[in-house]
Amino acid sequence: MKKGFVYLVGAGPGRADLITVRGAEALKAADCVIYDKLANPALLQFVRKDAEIIHVPKRIGEGSCTQDEINKVLAEKALAGKMVVRLKGGDPCIFGRVAEELAVLIEAGVEFEIVPGVTAAVAVSSYSGIMLTDREYSSQVTFVTGREAEGKEGTNIDWSVLAKFPGTIVFYMGMGTLASTAQKLIESGKPAETPVAVISNATFPTQRVVRAPLERINETCEQQKIKPPAIVVIGDAAASDTRFDWFTKRPLFGRSIVMTRDAAGNADFALKIVRRGGNPLEFKTIKIKPLTDSNEFLQVLTKIGQYDWVVFTSGNGVNTFFDALESLEKDARVFGSSKIAAIGSRTAEQLGRFGIKADFVPDVFTGRELGKQLICFANLRNKKILLLRSELASNELVEILVEAGAQVDNVAIYTAVAAKSDSARLADGISKGAIDWLTFASPSSVDGFFGQIGSDVVNSGDVKVASIGPVTSERLRELGIKVNVTANEHTLDGLLDAVEEQENKS
Ligand code: SAH
Repeated sequence: MKKGFVYLVGAGPGRADLITVRGAEALKAADCVIYDKLANPALLQFVRKDAEIIHVPKRIGEGSCTQDEINKVLAEKALAGKMVVRLKGGDPCIFGRVAEELAVLIEAGVEFEIVPGVTAAVAVSSYSGIMLTDREYSSQVTFVTGREAEGKEGTNIDWSVLAKFPGTIVFYMGMGTLASTAQKLIESGKPAETPVAVISNATFPTQRVVRAPLERINETCEQQKIKPPAIVVIGDAAASDTRFDWFTKRPLFGRSIVMTRDAAGNADFALKIVRRGGNPLEFKTIKIKPLTDSNEFLQVLTKIGQYDWVVFTSGNGVNTFFDALESLEKDARVFGSSKIAAIGSRTAEQLGRFGIKADFVPDVFTGRELGKQLICFANLRNKKILLLRSELASNELVEILVEAGAQVDNVAIYTAVAAKSDSARLADGISKGAIDWLTFASPSSVDGFFGQIGSDVVNSGDVKVASIGPVTSERLRELGIKVNVTANEHTLDGLLDAVEEQENKS
């Protein structure tokens, strides 16, 4: 029987791209992934579609019982011959109860590897500019847990030693016990005015940093409603130069921005929002439904190499097409010597993932422009052109190409159907002022959104509305929605530029 294996992988502190290369490789190889609440679910992007995913929420108070269950599942899966990844927040060996999991694996005779991760203290330091070490004031650092193992007799923490410690003290899991920690340190001789910083949700767009002297840190955190997960840094490090704090200075930092595209589109958009420091919130309005099992498509596929040009107008079209090819056990050779056109660099990039370099990529965002440019680029008289597009695409492109003398076959390979999201939750967020922006990248997502959320909710809240271009803005206005900004460049980056510009004004 195939022998199983367990990778204990450090997921890093939050942001999905702070996992190590080795960790991502293990995820790609996994048959089974077991993760808990500190590991960002976005890491599942690395996991194979057919892998089993087990979510083990481990909360304070559930303690050892849940840990026992996790240990059991780990060993069971590995003994069943699976390649298992146990994803743990931060680094597996820092306050990660890894010894308990390893003991079970050793007992069961399961082999393992530990993949280190960026631990929260270290990530906090980079993402807030609070330097844990400094040749001037801190030549040592200590990591302390604010919550020792439940039910354990006595304590491993010697408060009088800690109070005298001449470097930086970092508390993990320290929020629940912050008041008593501060009190014990002061009672043991630590000056009440010692600088303290508390950093919550480090590396996420919701990161918060609060600074106060030791005697006032607990009440300050309470006033500012700081919630775990948070790291407490005690010592001169906590008074680091605030100019080192690069992350919270990102242009859209702290802004909650709702994305209303399909799942793949939202994932792509989320990366762009995060890069600018914003907090992307997904609200699904449409779902891509492949139409590649139609006779029309299957027939066209048998003679696709006979076309002079094959035209893709969106990333969704490219993905749907190659998914269909894969399920038919075919590959890009079906194109033969046909030339390929891609509307927009994003579509071309997507083709590139499947090994296709597009012959023609106009950086335009409408079918009309594509048609006009294609006519200029190549003589299309009597040429055979295949358009692989959405069922909802306009006829304009077909008309322009036919007028230029081409024989056009227009095949719908996907369509957008309405998807459902948690509308009560979003409506609540909007009315509480917790949402800064709603963004719309197509008229169909406008329809999908307002099919779920009333226009009065949007108009009566403080939320602002951004649109990718005039057609989308027009649709919003038809529904009585005030549009705050319309992008000058009709791309997602253009949309975010417009949002940024508006934020700078206000
Ligand atoms: N193994 C983890 C720590 C697990 S203990 C690691 O190496 O980071 C859980 C504690 O980690 C939380 O209570 C909090 O103190 C800290 N933590 C984890 N993620 C954090 C984050 N994104 N921001 C701030 N603190 C975090």
